[in-house]
Amino acid sequence: MGRLQQAPGVVQIARDLSLASADPVEAILDHCRTRVASWVTGFKGRLTLQRFHQLIDDRLNLHHVVVKSDLELDDLIREQTGCGEAIFETLKDEFAGGTEAITFKLRKAEVGMRQHLAVIDGRGQRAARVFFGKRHEGSHLLCLSPLQLSFVFRRTHATKNAAEERLMDRIGGELAFYPPLFRPQLNRLQKIYVGPCFDLVDDVRNAVCPEASWTTTAIAVVEQNEFPALFLTARYASKTRDPGPESPSWALRVSVRANQAAKSAGLNIPWNYRVPETSLIYRAFHAPLGMLDAHADERLGIWTASNGSRLLDLPIHIEARKHGDQVTAIITLN
Ligand SMILES: [Zn+2]
Repeated sequence: MGRLQQAPGVVQIARDLSLASADPVEAILDHCRTRVASWVTGFKGRLTLQRFHQLIDDRLNLHHVVVKSDLELDDLIREQTGCGEAIFETLKDEFAGGTEAITFKLRKAEVGMRQHLAVIDGRGQRAARVFFGKRHEGSHLLCLSPLQLSFVFRRTHATKNAAEERLMDRIGGELAFYPPLFRPQLNRLQKIYVGPCFDLVDDVRNAVCPEASWTTTAIAVVEQNEFPALFLTARYASKTRDPGPESPSWALRVSVRANQAAKSAGLNIPWNYRVPETSLIYRAFHAPLGMLDAHADERLGIWTASNGSRLLDLPIHIEARKHGDQVTAIITLN
């Protein structure tokens, strides 16, 4: 998060919101948390995670349109340009150019209509990102000052604002699995299990966040867990500066999200670390006929780097699943 604090786009957001702080990232996050908490406090009735997301959209005057096919996209563009919203004319090219969502302030919102419209591309593989996409769009609106909201605007998530986009992902991630609502539900559902596991992810997804993808749910289950745990994906890759498959460093390597309890216990695996051939994760990847979900008790000390160093030799439990060209695993402290 260090570089984000100095990013000009992030500093400018803090300035526009009149937030004076040495750490603009934390100041902006706190600003969003405070606004959202005040809406939650004012809400009458029982708030589920889904109702919470609706509440945020209500307060932001935001309506999401998820486009699921080319036909739906054409219809939307025709409908909106027909209503005088010329801003829609370039939408198709922008989606083709890599943009996944755009938020507009409608010029001609009729009485009773929401003023802000977020169009999210949910076609094909982008469907898995819709749940996060909605929260990302809301995060942009949460970070606009009243003055900025009074203008007509259009957000396209340009890569030149990469720092701002990362900050929105961070805010959106917190809202997607809002801890004050998500954690109690997680703790309730986890009671029948020893710790975080695949079955728990299924239960949480069914009961709490059916719109979210399995992977984003699994990450939230691990990250918000008091039980030391890692969420891991393993794929074939080389060391950062090496070329692809022809490189000698080409190996099954990991990307890991560790929760706070795991970090405190010394349970972590560095990014891009090589999977040992004796680990269940390696076997799950290479099983000739594929493998059902598999479990194993192992020692983290079998994970070694090319310089001979090894990870802290903790007793761990691994649950692994192969899908496509990767293995997903949840690792807990035994
Ligand atoms: Zn964005």
